[in-house]
Amino acid sequence: MCGIVGYVGSRPAAPILLEALKRLEYRGYDSAGMATVFQKLVVRKDRGRIADIARRLKLAEMPGNLGLGHTRWATHGEPSRVNAHPHLDNSKKIAVVHNGIIENYSELRKFLQSQGYRFASETDTEVVPNLISYFLRQGKSLERSVREAARRLKGSFALAIVSVEEPDRVIAVRQDSPLIIGLGNGEVFLASDIPAMLQHTKRVLVLENGEMAVLTPERVVIKKINSGAAVEREPMTVNWTAEMAEKGGYPHFTLKEIHQQPEAVRDTLLAPEEELKKLARFLLGARRVYFVACGTSYHAALVAKYALAKLAELPVEVMISSEFGEVGSLDDKTAVLAITQSGETADTLKAVASAKAAGAKVACLTNVVGSSITRMSDLICYTYAGPEISVVATKTFAAQVAYLLRLAINLAKLRGRSGSKHNKLTAELKELPDVMREVLAKVDPQVKKLAGRLLPANDIYLIGRGVGYPLVLEGALKIKEITYIHSEGMPAGELKHGTLAQIEEGTPVIAVVTPGEMRLKMVSNVEEVKARGARVIAIADNGKDLREHVDELISIPHTEELFSPLLFIIPLQLLAYYITVGKGQDPDRPRSLAKSVTVE
Ligand code: GLU
Repeated sequence: MCGIVGYVGSRPAAPILLEALKRLEYRGYDSAGMATVFQKLVVRKDRGRIADIARRLKLAEMPGNLGLGHTRWATHGEPSRVNAHPHLDNSKKIAVVHNGIIENYSELRKFLQSQGYRFASETDTEVVPNLISYFLRQGKSLERSVREAARRLKGSFALAIVSVEEPDRVIAVRQDSPLIIGLGNGEVFLASDIPAMLQHTKRVLVLENGEMAVLTPERVVIKKINSGAAVEREPMTVNWTAEMAEKGGYPHFTLKEIHQQPEAVRDTLLAPEEELKKLARFLLGARRVYFVACGTSYHAALVAKYALAKLAELPVEVMISSEFGEVGSLDDKTAVLAITQSGETADTLKAVASAKAAGAKVACLTNVVGSSITRMSDLICYTYAGPEISVVATKTFAAQVAYLLRLAINLAKLRGRSGSKHNKLTAELKELPDVMREVLAKVDPQVKKLAGRLLPANDIYLIGRGVGYPLVLEGALKIKEITYIHSEGMPAGELKHGTLAQIEEGTPVIAVVTPGEMRLKMVSNVEEVKARGARVIAIADNGKDLREHVDELISIPHTEELFSPLLFIIPLQLLAYYITVGKGQDPDRPRSLAKSVTVE
């Protein structure tokens, strides 16, 4: 999920690789490393900042005209020197760097162990060099062995490989994680994104899913992984400014991360089944279940509350971490699931500490491997959103929701509550990243226009029902934190108990009309605010029936009610983003807010 670089040519490789790694720093990472080939493999790596590692391990002085580099965002195994990439095969002849997740790594690891291979790290990656070596031992070429190995990998991966046996080439493999090849004069570059190589070349070849490439100084040969058939591709010339490039072509990290949500969900849905099962059993074994979280994670927990109640009939109390200490009733029959993107949120760590002191059992769901929360938890679960750089959480919300929905389906299965429906639900959930991509493409231009019209607003109200309620809380939070416009999300049924008094001619009200039994009631609430003169923007499941009744309709494709947050959140996030940009503010760095809140 972070960065890969590679070089083959006639210049010393190390300074070029190091420079490129620094250009990938913006993607976030916890460890870095490089491998070059000069008579033998030279490998240097560690956890920490690139500049420190480079100074300590003299990365720029590594010998050779060919090599690889990596920045790691740990998904399997804590950030440490052993887990940092490159990873080597047992004979120390092959070095591999990898971005992404090898979904079937434990199966492959067992197979390789049965063949006598030993493993030094906890990563999913280490199976790759050994699997390549397994095929090399059968007398196949490096290229053929890489292809055989790649065909057996499941999940998302970008790989770069070098071997001392064939010291004139770098091999690249791509499945879902990006890889770009840059063409120079008698030299070839490889990187996860174009900016990393912009100072050397603007002529690039983009590797597509299911393809591999053999890079030698004078030539690049692209082939299909499955068939081995050669692929002809004309290089393209890019015309990018460094500023655009930093953010992978997006003007802000916020927008980039909103658009990365399909990948965040897809990767999170690949989380190990065994971990999900453990968490399901952990919750079922308790007399009382609490979810504790802050901010956006709290809203994801609320989505889960609906899903767990509806699918698995499991009641869960969702608490804001800083209030948790006040509720008291904790004992050794209590299970607490702490949800925190960074794993460092002080309020959540405090809540967990008080739960543990009372004898409760604790599980966590976090996006950061090895973070503080993982050291306090009896059971550790991860989302796989990759590093989130913008202060406002977007893709980590989607990843948390995806994980918790999968948990709800698992629990329903364990409790025998959803009949045979869970297979259908699982299949539909897997399709969602594609639907999210469609929604992103479709609503982005519409929301951009709408945002322009909302610039003068002083207040924006959001209403929703059922699972639409946590959604409007999250939508209102996005609007508050980056646009600075006052915004409130509430259950639509609560309007008449007070807030309706605030609605007058022209007040913007966003009605989130999710599918399901409550939909008709939501339609009535739309009429209710409309009658008070509100300017209604409906984000609706299909919504043809609403077109006549509202000022603006953002139509969302139909999906299972409980999954709708993953689609409906997109226009809300985009709206917050475009209003902010329209007001000339920086969405990546909102005033007074910090990414991980490490104070109580
Ligand atoms: N899954 C691999 C690991 O945990 C690669 C992570 C990455 O993309 O940086 O080491």
